[in-house]
Amino acid sequence: MGSGKAMESKELRRRTMQAVKSQDTAPEMAVRRLVFAQGFRYRLHAKDLPGKPDLVFPRLNKVVFVHGCFWHGHGCARGARVPVHNREYWVNKIARNASRDKSARIALQTLGWTCLVIWECELKKPERLKRKLLAFLGAHRRFPF
Ligand SMILES: [Zn+2]
Repeated sequence: MGSGKAMESKELRRRTMQAVKSQDTAPEMAVRRLVFAQGFRYRLHAKDLPGKPDLVFPRLNKVVFVHGCFWHGHGCARGARVPVHNREYWVNKIARNASRDKSARIALQTLGWTCLVIWECELKKPERLKRKLLAFLGAHRRFPF
């Protein structure tokens, strides 16, 4: 039996984790806005595709994942910052996420989809990110539907 206060803090932690991991995260919204502003339309979180890609461009056979650097184990400074507390737990968890991401990309490629991963840290350079997205989607295909 936990005390009321302990329960409360557990619940808060659960909600925080959910918020961090949930869909429609800030980086994801930023990527969507950027892509939408360029005239591209997409499906969201296609549950019928491996790894539930964040943005799907059916006519182009392309998908985009927007990954948080911490959760998906990016090689950047943020991705390398693993909590000291429960370190082993986090290292394992992030490794599992990264391996699941890789399997999903391989499965998608097998199905004929081309994948692009956008990392959260890439949002710090929006112009560069925009060029990357346009290069991936094809700058002249303004209305792919
Ligand atoms: Zn990163």
